[in-house]
Amino acid sequence: MKTQTDVVVIGGGIGGCSTLYHLTQEGITDCVLLERDELTSGTTWHSAAQVTNFGATQTMVGLKSHSIRLYKELADDPDYPINYHHGTGGIRLASTQDHLDGYKHFISLAKGVGVDFDLIDPEECARRHPLITTDNLLGALWDPLDGDIDPAQLCQALVRRARKAGAEVYRFTPVTGLTQQPDDSWIVHTEKGDIRAGKVVNAGGYRCNEVGAMMGSVLPVASMEHQYMLTEPIAAIEALDFRVPLIRCPTDDFYSRQEKYGLLVGFYEQDCRTWGLDGIDANFTMALCPDDLDRVIDTMEGAFARLPCLTETGIHSVINGPITYTPDGLPLVGKVPGRRNAYCITGLRAGLGEGGGHGWLLAQIIAHGEACYDTWCLDPRRFSSYANVKYTALKAIEDYQNEFRFHMPHEHRPAGRPARATPLTARLQSMNAEFTTVNGWERADYFKPNPDFRQALSFRFNNTFDVVRKEVEAVQHNVGIMEVSGFNRYEISGYGIHDWLDGIMCGRVPRKAGKVGLTYFLNADGNVKGEATLANLGEDAVWFGSAAAAELHDLDWLQDRLPKDGSIRITSLTGSHTSLVVAGPNSRAVLTKAAPRTDWSKEAFPWLSVQSVFIGSAQAIAMSVSFSGELAWELHIPNEQLLLAYERLLSAGTEFGIKPFGLRATDSMRLEKGYRHWKADLITEFNPMETGLDRFVRLEKDFVGKAALEKAIAKGSRRRFVSLTVDSPDAAAHPGDSIRLDGHVVGTVTSAGWGYRVGRNIAMGFVEPACAKLGTELTVDVVGTPSSAVVCEGCLYDPANERVRS
Ligand SMILES: Cc1cc2nc3c(=O)[nH]c(=O)nc-3n(C[C@H](O)[C@H](O)[C@H](O)COP(=O)(O)OP(=O)(O)OC[C@H]3O[C@@H](n4cnc5c(N)ncnc54)[C@H](O)[C@@H]3O)c2cc1C
Repeated sequence: MKTQTDVVVIGGGIGGCSTLYHLTQEGITDCVLLERDELTSGTTWHSAAQVTNFGATQTMVGLKSHSIRLYKELADDPDYPINYHHGTGGIRLASTQDHLDGYKHFISLAKGVGVDFDLIDPEECARRHPLITTDNLLGALWDPLDGDIDPAQLCQALVRRARKAGAEVYRFTPVTGLTQQPDDSWIVHTEKGDIRAGKVVNAGGYRCNEVGAMMGSVLPVASMEHQYMLTEPIAAIEALDFRVPLIRCPTDDFYSRQEKYGLLVGFYEQDCRTWGLDGIDANFTMALCPDDLDRVIDTMEGAFARLPCLTETGIHSVINGPITYTPDGLPLVGKVPGRRNAYCITGLRAGLGEGGGHGWLLAQIIAHGEACYDTWCLDPRRFSSYANVKYTALKAIEDYQNEFRFHMPHEHRPAGRPARATPLTARLQSMNAEFTTVNGWERADYFKPNPDFRQALSFRFNNTFDVVRKEVEAVQHNVGIMEVSGFNRYEISGYGIHDWLDGIMCGRVPRKAGKVGLTYFLNADGNVKGEATLANLGEDAVWFGSAAAAELHDLDWLQDRLPKDGSIRITSLTGSHTSLVVAGPNSRAVLTKAAPRTDWSKEAFPWLSVQSVFIGSAQAIAMSVSFSGELAWELHIPNEQLLLAYERLLSAGTEFGIKPFGLRATDSMRLEKGYRHWKADLITEFNPMETGLDRFVRLEKDFVGKAALEKAIAKGSRRRFVSLTVDSPDAAAHPGDSIRLDGHVVGTVTSAGWGYRVGRNIAMGFVEPACAKLGTELTVDVVGTPSSAVVCEGCLYDPANERVRS
């Protein structure tokens, strides 16, 4: 066995095997895979192994289509052909208009990464799958490349190629410990000796938390039992000269595919079970959980109704195995939070279909620091400490119960909530707040007109349209107040902080005490990594503020770049402070009344400045910044005084008719201003010039990513960020929708919504440079309808910023 290598991958399921193979493809050929038993002995061996292109984001569709391309290539390898039913086709049923609307959106989204789906009617479903009934069916999404693969052969084929390229695989070699060395490399302890590795990858499947514990990390992954049954042969299938397509049903929670001349039918029952939360027997390997078809009876009835042949067919066998889930159903692929040179590819719940792609992206991250797609939706740092074992289990159950039910726009499912609340949450609830969640925090989305109001979830404008409009109007014409819970903030203190920040941010760092600036930071490729508001609080203190979701991401990025001499410290204030925004033309009057010791005039407290203030007895850091485009202040208040400050502001605002507003109103207003949103519009696939942030880049100084950015500028833009007005009367576009010119896809929507102040439907996105000129006429698929769109000014509302400066 080797004693030293570049990368050790722990676990030989599809996650580990795919990572190993792709590492060799990315140039890391000195790598090792360690498997405690036989390859695929965890979940992989008994997987139903369906392989679809379908996904809810372009990153997911893109990585799945990589799997499909790779598996096809492996299946066609004459030296080691594997069983892959490529292109059987799959039908995703729709029994409601919402399902159909969702599919129309996903068809448009997939088109942008070169994947074709179709919408088919019930008759076509029955023609393609002669065994189904069409009762209550409105149509379906057709994925022509859906299929299934032999999971063990697939892993063997990947490992075979990896070995050929130089990788080594040690089976029956359990990893027993991990010790990080002072140089940040790892000693990987095994029963057969130690290996020193530059980097380690946790691909431990349902044992990922055993491996995680060895490096002191807890991953939000919980396993669920999952069952499918295999039937005896079915005469109607034997009589066909083609394989029946796969079926997935979001109403009755089952899937089905052909297996030999019978059917494999799997169930996502409501009465589901977590598995292994209290520890896993060391001998559970190549093993299954006991069958329990009783608890899937309800789900089975739905499957039998859709496939009546099942009522006359015997059950040949049942498979019940553990399958891993994360709180949002997407895996953890990337850097392990807070650990250096440690990565994971865990929480795979559809690992056969996705594993090829996840291994591909992870290998790129390990080899180059970043993948070809923005991988935030997979990044382990998207969850922080709130995602504990209980929360993860509750979310895993919820996700399992909704396996084929995609999230509707603005849908925030209830399990595990509230996970993070502020002292104001209950108060806002008493004011009829409807909450959304942001990095686990409860945040008011909008305020219901009455306690019984229920949002009708839809891909189209719904009954919240006028509710949000009223909140925007209050902010535009008068004054509103919003709690921005979980807003991410660090205090950066110590010696030389301004110079240090100057070297890591691509833009201007506010050098004068009392000044605030918006700046961006880039990755080594010169693409956009993050956005921060920097508030200069003096010679040795800066507040760094960013999106709530960026909590661990930004901390990791900053900490990785800290001077080694300990001269600079980062203290997180995210959990101890909360922000209130007071916005609107009367915000100054309200603040003057609530905090009379401060001079809030435009001369004394101009736009983009910061001061320490008292809101009554509550001490706050106040910044004159605005995400709404109206005159506004952000007040950062210690949590113990938050309620006090809020009540004082409300009572000061009574005479002005102050109104609470939520995230939905803010989102509408920021679209009108052309402000980008982190990980919607600000992604690692594009550099700041392509993202239209030229004015935030100071090429005259040195900063992280500058060399790569200069090269990219010399090469020219791949895409350009634009704002569009879209002619669509009953719906906004959705992130991922395709933007077209003469029918050809030329770009993708990154965020969209109705702009109440300008009375226009707005979309933002990246388009081919030739389509970025003002006035270019394009179309955007809005819930399946090609809608005229025109490239417009980035800022549609008060472009001179007169209102924020007023
Ligand atoms: C019934 C069922 C049906 C499914 N159907 C589908 C489907 O149709 N399509 C689909 O895409 N997915 C399906 N899945 C999910 C899919 O099978 C999994 O997502 C996938 O197999 C997970 O792969 P993995 O590599 O993450 O984990 P595993 O396959 O569990 O691999 C992890 C490996 O790590 C090893 N290991 C753990 N600890 C150590 C250690 N300390 N040292 C060394 N090695 C260690 C284990 O022995 C194991 O081999 C199904 C799952 C189930 C249960």
